[in-house]
Amino acid sequence: MNLCVLGAQWGDEGKGKIVDLLTPSFQLVARYQGGHNAGHTVFVRGKKFVLHLIPSGILHEGVTCLIGNGVVVDPHALFAEVDELKALGISITGRLLVSDKAHLILPYHRELDVLSEARRGDRKIGTTSRGIGPAYEDKIGRRGIRVGDLADKSDNGPLVNAVRENVATRNRLMGNNDMKWESVVADLRVMWPRLQPLVADVSLYIDTAMKAGKRVMFEGAQGTLLDIDHGTYPFVTSSNGTAGGACTGLGIGPRSVHAVLGVVKAYTTRVGEGPLPTELVDTVGERLRESGNEYGASTGRPRRCGWYDAVVTRYAARVNGLDALALTKLDVLDGFEEIKICTAYRCGNETLTEMPGDLAQLAACVPVYETMPGWDAPTAGVTRYENLPAAARAYIRRLEEVSGVPAAIVSTGSDREHTIIRNDSVASNWLK
Ligand code: GDP
Repeated sequence: MNLCVLGAQWGDEGKGKIVDLLTPSFQLVARYQGGHNAGHTVFVRGKKFVLHLIPSGILHEGVTCLIGNGVVVDPHALFAEVDELKALGISITGRLLVSDKAHLILPYHRELDVLSEARRGDRKIGTTSRGIGPAYEDKIGRRGIRVGDLADKSDNGPLVNAVRENVATRNRLMGNNDMKWESVVADLRVMWPRLQPLVADVSLYIDTAMKAGKRVMFEGAQGTLLDIDHGTYPFVTSSNGTAGGACTGLGIGPRSVHAVLGVVKAYTTRVGEGPLPTELVDTVGERLRESGNEYGASTGRPRRCGWYDAVVTRYAARVNGLDALALTKLDVLDGFEEIKICTAYRCGNETLTEMPGDLAQLAACVPVYETMPGWDAPTAGVTRYENLPAAARAYIRRLEEVSGVPAAIVSTGSDREHTIIRNDSVASNWLK
């Protein structure tokens, strides 16, 4: 049984915790898209780990972690993360592999990211400025440099030529000659001996492992509404975080993905620009942000907060083929007197029950809410479904109904232990 775990909202749903929780049932955990713009925060027995590029499965001994061809890799960021893990007593030796086909993020990508955001002015996307978008642009533009290309040692070979051309483009766009291709190449040469032992044909590795009966978890970064194709374009990331991305981003067939788990918060957040129909720009939104500590793990940016949006989850269920939800941060709603659920959008004279594709229409949508009573006892740290207050159970039941997907896992705190895995749910099969 292989499982894809992905974000079903705008990212930051708590995927890191859920992947970490489920990892003991899997031998391989594979990232299929994105770069070190992702930030997965995991707490293990009170100890905090923030992972950006390396799958959260790395925290479990004996699990092999893979970075697929669909990921863009900044080698400096990768090694910084490896060093950080080492300092925390976690070794990656023999447990971390990087696809030879993954594209590299190079220094000019970071600069071009900043430049492109500055040029957009008030239409800026709100990127993390880490070069992820420009690296994907080079990939699609067929001028990117892949991890495996670094094996080319020649002074006038394809690697050097590609770097030279890309740096020339950077200098033209930036209007100066500050970057020297020689120093970019020199840096790559220094990096290669450290990177080389990690390089593998990830597609083949997964295929071989699956044939040997091993179970693989596919880890999505960002979220469905940030997907380059299915998200709120152009306010999206540059890759496919939706379930299809697992196939193209790792080199596996769709039948290898046996189930898809969508991680959703019990409310909604979004970082960066773009429409967010249930956004609360009032004290309720502020309270959600403070209670949920809604500040980006990668950038520290405050996240925009609002009520749960079932239109979004229904859409995510469709484009990902979700089997179940992992509902996180239920505890953040503790103490609210009433809680709202958006079940549809009102747009002019129309009521929309499905996500509109047109961004201007989405921006003009007003949520149609149902109001539910809050609960009188805390849910924080509860580990059994039946121990949740009745009103919290009613809220979950209603979310399942309006989202059209069962909540197999409910998270009530940041720690691994603060989780309910419902016995009667599909998730109990995944964990066998
Ligand atoms: P990811 O990128 O989807 O993994 O999400 P982030 O790591 O950016 O954000 C999730 C944050 O919420 C992390 O700090 C988690 O430790 C925390 N978290 C996850 N689940 C819960 C939960 O059920 N309750 C609370 N209070 N925090 C949670």
